Amino acid sequence: MSIRVENLSHTYMPGTPMESPALVGISLEIKEGEFVGLIGETGSGKSTLIQHFNGLLKPTTGKIYVDDIDIGHKGTSLKEIRRRVGLVFQYPEHQLFEETVFADIAYGPSNMGLKGENLTRRVRESMEMVGIDYEELKDRSPFELSGGQMRRVAMAGVLAMKPKVLVLDEPTAGLDPRGRGEILQQIKELHREFGLTVVLVSHSMEDVARLVERLLVMHRGKLVLSGPTREIFAQEEELRKIGLGVPQVTELFHHLRGCFPTIKPDVLTVEEAHREICSYLRQKRGNIHA
Ligand code: ADP
Ligand code: MG
Repeated sequence: MSIRVENLSHTYMPGTPMESPALVGISLEIKEGEFVGLIGETGSGKSTLIQHFNGLLKPTTGKIYVDDIDIGHKGTSLKEIRRRVGLVFQYPEHQLFEETVFADIAYGPSNMGLKGENLTRRVRESMEMVGIDYEELKDRSPFELSGGQMRRVAMAGVLAMKPKVLVLDEPTAGLDPRGRGEILQQIKELHREFGLTVVLVSHSMEDVARLVERLLVMHRGKLVLSGPTREIFAQEEELRKIGLGVPQVTELFHHLRGCFPTIKPDVLTVEEAHREICSYLRQKRGNIHA
């Protein structure tokens, strides 16, 4: 399932003294099966943009197409679009509201008419997809769980609708390093195993460098850069100008190139850095022995 945005602008509270343009002339396309990252400083419009992907917000001007269907068209079923394009909000645990984990995850599919065995199976499968145990958690209150578990329950609630596109707004915000690592790993697996199209909003350059194939970069309501992750992080100066950076290890390698000009210029992760350093040293040792 693909998403296409054409010349989208969004102004909050138009016609009031509070009027403020949050998105300006955005055009982009997310192809089926892609894993895309969306970055930009706070207030740049990331959350506003993704809430247009499933019709939660209406464009002030412009159009959104999901699989070439204009979602603003009168005849389009927004209910169906929302089922297909699943949105996990920032701090999704704030949206948990039922008394048990089961009831919370079952909420969406039971509204769709799923019942009995089918509903139970759907809840169980969704919990498995995010790595939480059905028997252990189904009767617990979502509010007694750890931050990471709550977030998984919220994700399971979205996955229970069997979306084709999963949009996650800063899914690791506020979690400790272990919780963050686990959630990211889970998202990666959802993409790989189930072929979900994933849009990950993040302010961690490390996280997107490790995970996504392509980056969309926003600044003050505009889409200012878009391209393969490696190419975007090669533009350190442009990113700095708009309040962003590159992963620390990428920056370190930029510095190292001052002393070791033949070292790889576009290292993105600690693992890549490790490989590069080993191969560099091996080569050097070879040269000495030669
Ligand atoms: P980000 O997710 O990148 O931090 P947002 O999309 O939340 O950015 O915000 C973009 C701009 O729109 C900001 O200036 C923000 O203050 C404003 N904004 C966001 N939500 C609302 C709202 N519900 N009402 C009015 N202004 C809003
Ligand atoms: Mg936001």
